[in-house]
Amino acid sequence: MRASHFFISTLKEAPADAEIISHKLMVRAGMIRRLGSGIYAYMPMGLRVIQKIENIIREEMNKAGAIELLMPIVQPAELWQETGRWQKYGPELLRIKDRHDRDFIIQPTSEEVITDIARNVIKSYRQLPVNFYHIQTKFRDERRPRFGLMRGREFTMKDAYSFDRDVEGLKKSYQIMFNAYVNIFNRFGLKFRPVAADNGAIGGSGSHEFHVIAETGEDALVYSRESDYAANMEAAIALPPVQERAAPAHTMQKVPTPGQKACEDVTTFLKQPLSQSLKVIAAIRTEIPEGQPGHFAVILLRGDHELNEIKTQKNIGEFRFASESEIIHHLGCPSGYLGPVGLQNRQDLALYADHAVTVMSDFICGANEKDMHFTGVNWERDVPLPSIIADFRNVVEGDPSPDGKGTLAIQRGIEVGHVFQLGTRYSEDMNATYLDENGKPQLMQMGCYGIGVTRIVGAAIEQNNDERGIIWPLSIAPFEVVLCPLGYDRSETVRSTADSLYGELKKLGIDVIMDDRGERPGVMFSDWELIGIPHRIVIGERGLKEGKLEYQGRRDREATAVAIKEMVPFIR
Ligand code: ATP
Ligand code: MG
Ligand code: MG
Ligand code: MG
Repeated sequence: MRASHFFISTLKEAPADAEIISHKLMVRAGMIRRLGSGIYAYMPMGLRVIQKIENIIREEMNKAGAIELLMPIVQPAELWQETGRWQKYGPELLRIKDRHDRDFIIQPTSEEVITDIARNVIKSYRQLPVNFYHIQTKFRDERRPRFGLMRGREFTMKDAYSFDRDVEGLKKSYQIMFNAYVNIFNRFGLKFRPVAADNGAIGGSGSHEFHVIAETGEDALVYSRESDYAANMEAAIALPPVQERAAPAHTMQKVPTPGQKACEDVTTFLKQPLSQSLKVIAAIRTEIPEGQPGHFAVILLRGDHELNEIKTQKNIGEFRFASESEIIHHLGCPSGYLGPVGLQNRQDLALYADHAVTVMSDFICGANEKDMHFTGVNWERDVPLPSIIADFRNVVEGDPSPDGKGTLAIQRGIEVGHVFQLGTRYSEDMNATYLDENGKPQLMQMGCYGIGVTRIVGAAIEQNNDERGIIWPLSIAPFEVVLCPLGYDRSETVRSTADSLYGELKKLGIDVIMDDRGERPGVMFSDWELIGIPHRIVIGERGLKEGKLEYQGRRDREATAVAIKEMVPFIR
C-alpha cells in the first residue's frame, strides 16, 4: 500500500469524551469516528485491524471444525418470545417495528435464530455434532456506552453455537472451543487469562471468560500464582466454602402499617436515606416465618433515576445473588439475602460501597405482607454493612486459593471472549430435537462461544501503548512495516531504493505501507508512532551513501543502521 492511495488522518488532541487511553489513541490515529453514543464508523486504518482480528478468528475457528454462516441482524420477535427473552432481556434489547406493526429486534446475540435453524435443518444424530459461527454486527443498548469500541452499543462479535447429542459431546465441543480460543488469543500476541465464570444453573466448569490483562479493565480477576486456579471475581466469591457464622441477633418486630401494600413489588419498600446521594431500600423478599429474620434485599441507589428503573423489576427472587449459599457466606445469616437489585454486577456494588455508611442498624423495612412493616431490622451491629459490601470485593491478595494450592492474586482484565455450556436452555424452549439411533427425539445439547471482535482492538491498545502512541502486536497491526523515504520526490536514489524495497517486501507477503505523502520527517515519524506500526524503515540519502538504511522497532528507543541487503532478512 502506498500512503498516497490510502487514507491517513491523525489528530494532535483527543476528544473530550475519551476517558481511557485506547479510546483517545484510536481517535487520534484516525481509526474510528463517533457517530452517536456507542456508535462508531470504522475508518480505513481501524478496519484493517478489525479485519486482521477477524481473519485470525476465522482461521482458528475453521481449524477447530466450526462452520461459518451468516445470520440476520434483524430478527423476528416471535423467536425471542419462544424463549422468554423478549420479556427478560430488558432495556439492552433494541426492539423495532416494521411497517406492518410487527415486532423485531436488532440482535444482541443469536441463540434464538441458530436454535431455530438447527431444529429445522438437523434431523438425525448423524448430523451431530455441529458448530456454526458467524462474525456479525451486534447491538446492545448499553446503560453506559463508553470507552470507544470497548463498550459500544453497535459492535462486532464472533459468536459460535455448538450442537451435540449429549452432555459428554457438549463437553468435548466446549473443550475444542476453549483450546481454539487459547490459540486465537496467543496469535493476537496479547497477554490474556481464561477464568472460570459464574454460569448460574449449569454450574461447575460450564463457563469461562477470556480476559485481556489491563489495568483499566472493568473486571477483577482472581488467580492463584501457584496453581491453575483462576476465576472472575463473581465466580471467585461464589466458590469458597460457606463459613459458619452465628446468625446476627435481631430485635425485629412486625408492626402494622395500614395502607401499605405487600412487598412483592419493590416500589412499596420503605426508603431510608443513607447519605445525600444514596438511598438504601431494605426489603423482605419472600414469606418469612413469624419472628424469624427474613430474606432481605438491600438496594443501594444513587438518586431517583435509578429508582425508576428499579420499579420495573418485579421479581427480586431472580436476581443473581439469590443463591442461599452465597447469602450465608456473605451475610453470615442463613435466612438473609443481600442483593444489589438493579445494579448490574458486583463491581457496580463495590463502586457504590465507597459511599455507603453504616446506618443499617435498627431500620425499618417492608414485610412481604399487606399492611405490615418490620422495625428494628439490624445488620449493622452484627455484620457491619461495609464489611458485607467488602465481602463483595472480598477476595483479597494473599487469601488462600480455594483449590488449597497457594495464595490468591488479583489483576484487572477486559472480557474479550466468553464460552458457555448452555445445555438444553434453548433447545427445550424451542423444541430443538434430533432423532437418535432408535428413532427417538432427543433435545440437542448446546454451547455458545463469543469473541468481542471490536472490543479486542481497544483491549490490545490498553495493553500496548506508550507516550508516543499505540504499539501493535505484529499479527493485528494495520501494517507490519512502514517505509519512510526522506525526499521521495527529490532524490532519485532514495526513490529507487524505496521502490525496490517496497516491491521486495510485498513479494514476500509482508504487509507494508510506503509513506509517499511528501510530509516532513518529523510529521511522518510521529504519525507512524501514533498509529503504532511495529517496524519502521527510514530511507535517506545520508545513509544510502554508506549503503545503509535505518531500522527502528516501535518499542526501540533508537534506530539501528542496517545494510540495504540485510534489511529484508533483518525484519523477517
Ligand atoms: P460485558 O460483561 O462486558 O457487558 P457480556 O458478558 O455482556 O460483556 P457476552 O454476552 O459474553 O458479553 O458477549 C460476548 C463478548 O462480546 C464479550 O466477551 C465481549 O468481548 C463482547 N461484548 C459484549 N458487550 C460488548 C459491547 N457493549 N461492546 C463491545 N463488545 C462487547
Ligand atoms: Mg454485557
Ligand atoms: Mg460479562
Ligand atoms: Mg460475558
